[in-house]
Amino acid sequence: MIRTRFAPSPTGFLHVGGARTALFNWLFARGHGGEFVLRIEDTDQVRSTAESAAGILSDLQWLGLDWDRGPVPGQEKNEYFQSTRLDIYNGFIDALAKSGHVYEAWETPAQLAAMRSQAEREKRPFRYRRQMPGRAPKGSTPCVLRFEMPHEEISFHDLILGPIQVGAEEHDDIVIRKSDGFPTYHFAVVVDDHLMEISHVLRAQEHLMNTPKHLALYRALGWKPPEHAHMPLVFNMDNTKMSKRDKSKAARHAAQLLMKNKPEVTLETLAAMAKVEPEALGKFLHQKQDNSAVTTAVAQALHLALPEIEVQDFRRSGYLHDALLNFIALIGWAPGENREILTRHELLDLFSLEGIGKTNGRFDRKKLLWMNGEYIRRASLKDLAQHMQAFNAVTDYPIKSADPAMLDKLLTMYQERMGTLGEMAENSRFFFSAPPLDPKAVDKFVRIASGPQHLQEIISLLAAANPWNAEGISPAMESIITMGEKRGSAAQILRVAVSGGAVSPPLLETLLLLGRDQTLDRLKRLEKEVAGVSGS
Ligand code: GLU
Repeated sequence: MIRTRFAPSPTGFLHVGGARTALFNWLFARGHGGEFVLRIEDTDQVRSTAESAAGILSDLQWLGLDWDRGPVPGQEKNEYFQSTRLDIYNGFIDALAKSGHVYEAWETPAQLAAMRSQAEREKRPFRYRRQMPGRAPKGSTPCVLRFEMPHEEISFHDLILGPIQVGAEEHDDIVIRKSDGFPTYHFAVVVDDHLMEISHVLRAQEHLMNTPKHLALYRALGWKPPEHAHMPLVFNMDNTKMSKRDKSKAARHAAQLLMKNKPEVTLETLAAMAKVEPEALGKFLHQKQDNSAVTTAVAQALHLALPEIEVQDFRRSGYLHDALLNFIALIGWAPGENREILTRHELLDLFSLEGIGKTNGRFDRKKLLWMNGEYIRRASLKDLAQHMQAFNAVTDYPIKSADPAMLDKLLTMYQERMGTLGEMAENSRFFFSAPPLDPKAVDKFVRIASGPQHLQEIISLLAAANPWNAEGISPAMESIITMGEKRGSAAQILRVAVSGGAVSPPLLETLLLLGRDQTLDRLKRLEKEVAGVSGS
């Protein structure tokens, strides 16, 4: 039976690269009638957090990647959390120690760093081996346990990359138990993949060089290893690795650009704008110290949309889970025949390891936006309303307060014209409260010779419209559209009045949804504004 697993370390939120790993494991298992296991690898006591584990579960659920065995959301840690399995790991470490594969090592982190830099100075790779000279004697610091790697080449067949060989001189005696008593990733992953009867390990190529270490452990423990397949990494379009550092980079770049173009913006003023300590901001800007709190604060202060990297970023931007899933399936995998839009069923049918390439995949944001728009346009209103509900649960736009009837009308209006739900949530703000007036639009369309007079006429026409429904306001709308010399130019005045700017959904629908009172109030607000009296 095919059984795959996704084994994230809960040291942050779910990255799209991780989501892609989860998806391929899920597709491979489900497509073969197998099982998909979720295991939380929380052996790093310092960096693992319960919040991150819960976030990963929630993102996987949102993507619809369900697991047959694993943590139960909302419940205590179970046996699919490595931190609950120390006794199991220790039992196998004892067995390995008995067979002579394990030894104690006493170097402090500082000593190890010194050994590494000496190797660097001598231009040789640093490999920790049991027989090497200069190992630290038994000391008083807690020791680690290392596994003695074999002194021979290790080779295996990767299901994506083909034959892989690693020479004896490449091996390093890996730590299998840290000084805090926890196993390392290398050890726990082997024990768990064996005990959980994982048949195929599909993971990112960054783990390729870990596999020989794991195979040596399987051999020493007398176990048959699973099959391995290493998937290409997810890169940005500019060939850099897609990482959450991209967010800090974007915020840093925007801040530096602003300070360059506007010398009056100093470190102190920017710190005050972003409400962060100048010292922290200085470190962030000048020493390139990544700091997610500073990144977010700077981005907010500068109204900068940070690049989405983690699944929750895409959720908050209003991507539909099926669109994101479809898109990430195509990073490094191709179904053939240039097919792009694929349902979950089609993905399950078509997915195969043979379709996975060897070279890095590209994350093309433009294509994702296009694909999301396609999904939005193909969705039923009922489905869109559900997506909107899920979106509202993780965001805080005024659209949250729309009742089902109003939401329905808004979705009908925006379905054809939005790329993401976030775009609709942003652009529909004016339906919920009077928007700020865009001074450029006011100057262009209203503060012109015929502007004030046309505005007057628009007010009288709409004030007289009765009843306030499509039939009742159509004659007024027709007169407004034909008003003036150029068809539609006066209608822009009405648009600015109600939406604040020069872009909105079709006016008739907009006015119907806003209602008579709001429409007239906003027209009068604009009238005051152009007459020089400050608006509301
Ligand atoms: N916990 C490891 C990670 O998040 C899992 C790697 C693997 O799949 O073996 O990178």
